[in-house]
Amino acid sequence: MIKIQPVSYRTLAESAAGKLTAFLLEGSLLPGAQLPPERELMTQLGISRATLREALKSLEKNRLIESRPGVGWFARAVDESNMTQAKEMAGGAATQASRPATSEPPTGPLRVPIAPEKPIHIPNLKKDRLGTFEFISWWEREKVQAAKVMVIGAGALGNEVIKNLSLMGVGNLFIVDFDKIEAANLSRSVLFRETDNNRSKAEVAAARAKSVNPQVHVQYLNGDVTTQLGLGIFRRMDAVIGCLDNREARLAVNRFCYWMNKPWVDGAIQELLGLVRVFVPGQGACYECTLTEQALRDLSMRYSCPLLARQNILLGKVPTTPTIASIIGAMQSQEALKLIHSLPVEPGKVTHFNGMVNEMRTTAYSAREDCESHWTYGEITELPARAERTTLADLLRIARADLGPDAIIELDQELIVSLECPNCHTIEETLKPLSEVSFEAGHCPTCGILRESTLTHAITGEEKFLHRTLASVGVPALHILRAHNGVQYRFYELTGDLPEALHFHHFEQTGGGNGSPARGRVRLKGAVKLKDAPKNPALGRVKLRG
Ligand SMILES: [Zn+2]
Ligand SMILES: [Zn+2]
Repeated sequence: MIKIQPVSYRTLAESAAGKLTAFLLEGSLLPGAQLPPERELMTQLGISRATLREALKSLEKNRLIESRPGVGWFARAVDESNMTQAKEMAGGAATQASRPATSEPPTGPLRVPIAPEKPIHIPNLKKDRLGTFEFISWWEREKVQAAKVMVIGAGALGNEVIKNLSLMGVGNLFIVDFDKIEAANLSRSVLFRETDNNRSKAEVAAARAKSVNPQVHVQYLNGDVTTQLGLGIFRRMDAVIGCLDNREARLAVNRFCYWMNKPWVDGAIQELLGLVRVFVPGQGACYECTLTEQALRDLSMRYSCPLLARQNILLGKVPTTPTIASIIGAMQSQEALKLIHSLPVEPGKVTHFNGMVNEMRTTAYSAREDCESHWTYGEITELPARAERTTLADLLRIARADLGPDAIIELDQELIVSLECPNCHTIEETLKPLSEVSFEAGHCPTCGILRESTLTHAITGEEKFLHRTLASVGVPALHILRAHNGVQYRFYELTGDLPEALHFHHFEQTGGGNGSPARGRVRLKGAVKLKDAPKNPALGRVKLRG
């Protein structure tokens, strides 16, 4: 049996003082010798000047060193008069050693962020599944357990990321995917089984995450991230991980994260190649900055025939292996872990991994000045409104009370108002969000040719359909809508949807199931700040979804 001594909690200054005292005790600092200059000590101990001074003061107080004004610090002899203090300082204070090993770290004094001095709870490895992580110097259990992470895409990459996050005990996972499981997924998806055929990827992945680690709270959305996920969900995440296979979805996630000022981790794989990149709003390039002019043109092409463009996105399939998914998914998970701990990441850079020659390279993108994604929402007004109940007229009324009679609402998704056949000229009034009209349905039932669609995404008050609910025009639950009067923007969240739209309580075994919907309420850390208000409000107009 290995006997493990409880290691006490110490502040950074205490631990620095301990190290200096140890030098005295072991004789590497002789009595009367001058201590190295402050700058050198700061570097060697990895601490700030203020912390060093605090440490030196405590040594002085315990008569272990003395100051000679204008010269520096000098070591004193260690004898009966100061030996007890010296041993205490070098070995950790007696009061701290008596703390039970399983206690929580104290709040209050300075904590050591990344250092072997981190308070170590000696875990019960027989009972505590996260116990070994306690030995990682920078690991903070509370932060990991409180973290809210969205994983978008539950394919090969998503499976790996969800597996890793669950194993690491990341407390709250929100999993999004619109796809269903088919046999070919089984060769690269650790969470799926043969019996899962034709089930929702998001649902199965969430259920398995819960069985991998029952301590993790999960929620899933079987839907499309570009149109069916309210911005209020992004707003309440600590990090977003994109496990996507197409540009449209990446671009959508990039904009939503930028709007909500959230970091996101993108991953991409193909055969034995992969890449990982972290995007943080306002710090370096975003995903849209990385797109070439040609790629942006291709993406905007979809507006000439939006129905077809959408169809094509769903067809793209990229050949991958479970091995590259493991590698890239692991790197994404680690980046998320760093974000959760506020450890440094490298936003706006890409790390390429080439598994054919085992080469890894990191390069920086340059941020584009004119990038349309660079916009962060200002203060968000939380309305008790719900997408299913609130009408366009209701919201317009609220916006006009705030912004005056010229206020209009901008929808994020194009609305197909009507379809006109270029041949027989019949017009069908549709009024459906673009995402709900299939390519086939866009054809004339008589002539069989593709009809021209009339789209809108601005609600000006002139519309005949103002009585329609927000949900019926494609606004997802807990969404945040924009209104403006040509000068100023306001942002309205459908906060009435919160208990249902964000709860992390799928597959919970205990606690009365759906008895208390409010249990899932998530507290907000603070209002989202408007970082760079667009000079031209039109810059914020987005015709992205569809
Ligand atoms: Zn950008
Ligand atoms: Zn026709």
